[in-house]
Amino acid sequence: MVEHLYLHVPFCNKICSYCDFAKTGYQERLVEKWLKVVAKELEERVFDTELATIYIGGGTPSSLSVQQLEALLLLLKPYTKKIKEYTIEANPESLSIDKLYILKSYGINRISLGVQSTHQELLDMMNRSHCYTDVKEVIAHCIQVGICNISVDLMYSLPNQTMQQWEETLYDIVQLPITHISLYSLTIEDNTVFKKKQYESLPIEMETKMYQKAIHICTQYGFIHYEISNFAKDGKESLHNKAYWKYKDFYGISLGASGKIQQQRYDNTRNFKSYLNHEYIQTSYQEDEKEVMFNMIMMSLRMKEGLSLSEFKRVFQKDIMDVYQKPLQKLLELKYLVIENQYLKCQKDSFLFLHDILIEFLD
Ligand code: SF4
Repeated sequence: MVEHLYLHVPFCNKICSYCDFAKTGYQERLVEKWLKVVAKELEERVFDTELATIYIGGGTPSSLSVQQLEALLLLLKPYTKKIKEYTIEANPESLSIDKLYILKSYGINRISLGVQSTHQELLDMMNRSHCYTDVKEVIAHCIQVGICNISVDLMYSLPNQTMQQWEETLYDIVQLPITHISLYSLTIEDNTVFKKKQYESLPIEMETKMYQKAIHICTQYGFIHYEISNFAKDGKESLHNKAYWKYKDFYGISLGASGKIQQQRYDNTRNFKSYLNHEYIQTSYQEDEKEVMFNMIMMSLRMKEGLSLSEFKRVFQKDIMDVYQKPLQKLLELKYLVIENQYLKCQKDSFLFLHDILIEFLD
């Protein structure tokens, strides 16, 4: 049974300089057409209705009008009977109080805000539309309507970003009434404005220092570092993202979304014309057992809690110590990994070497 669903809203009011996600500029009529295809895709491809988590991401879901948001939430309503976590991404400037009331009335209980920085010059460089005042205002509005589980996305290693700017952003954010912080280190992708302008992210040494600074400040302010790049107040870890990291199955719906069902991974098309013609899936791929094992280890070790050894045994009917005897022996001896309470996990500070750790499992 699949318990998780991601739905991608491929519209944005403005295009950010670093973005290579599947998205297009907001056009009212295109949204109307897209909604009709989403309705059909849900009907044709989502068979389990007792979902535990739904994540509406983007793009910018909050770029939709109040009526369009309501139409989308109505399409998802049949799947929300047993929902535990229902998240929507939003940009601060487009999440009006009217939209928040609609979200609340359909059971949305978590907002993920694209904040990125609290420094205006960095926001301008990224072509973001909001300012720090918008962020504070929208968080107050979320709480006013009763959506108090609020996550904030932040970016670091931005071109010319200083350590002082990063520290100030972190201190601004940790003092807000939020429950969760996700960090993203900038990668400059092809076909982005940053690439065209030949901007560069910061050297790796600086990036590492910024990451360590974030760990220091977030944990100092009561956020638990529960995954490589994610921090949460007690009990507010993202259930949806944890499903990805535990390598659970999930539906991916709409343009550019990916999903995984019974070892079959698929990527939906990023081409609007194809999507509107109901040609949803662009590629699909059946993973063999070894790949599933490796991916489960790779994703689980991102979390502080690590990989459940009993879950590994339940899924594969094999003991991980038998399958990966050599690498495990080596990594446990080096104390990069530890086993505690039947969980295999990274030793403190080993997150920084996760890439090297995982290579051992590939041999
Ligand atoms: S809002 Fe998000 S999806 Fe839209 S352009 Fe910016 S980064 Fe990309």
